[in-house]
Amino acid sequence: MEKERLEFFKNLLNSKLEELVAGAGKAVTTMSSSREESFPDPTDRASHETDRNFLLRVKDRERKLIAKIQEALKRIDNGTYGICEICGEDISEKRLEARPVTTSCIKCKEEEEAQEKQRKIG
Ligand SMILES: [Zn+2]
Repeated sequence: MEKERLEFFKNLLNSKLEELVAGAGKAVTTMSSSREESFPDPTDRASHETDRNFLLRVKDRERKLIAKIQEALKRIDNGTYGICEICGEDISEKRLEARPVTTSCIKCKEEEEAQEKQRKIG
């Protein structure tokens, strides 16, 4: 891939990463500050727990995405970004723009999904 295009994806991934890290930090602050409050009503306490579980779930998903972005940035640094892990062909830039953390080309992805579907039916 051309250097300018790599720069473009690097910026794209970095800004996404910053956005996620900032969002995760915000969730943590909300959680720790609300923990200080007391909930005399058990119903309030229950809904509060649900909120916290929700936050933890969101955080788990974000954590995974953050890891994926960091891996993609590593691939940019070592020169393997944009190359399909399965067949070794270039991943189309259109696909990368839509999903910059992807590690497989559309052909391999479709084959993988078709196989998964078959496995479910069989
Ligand atoms: Zn492929």
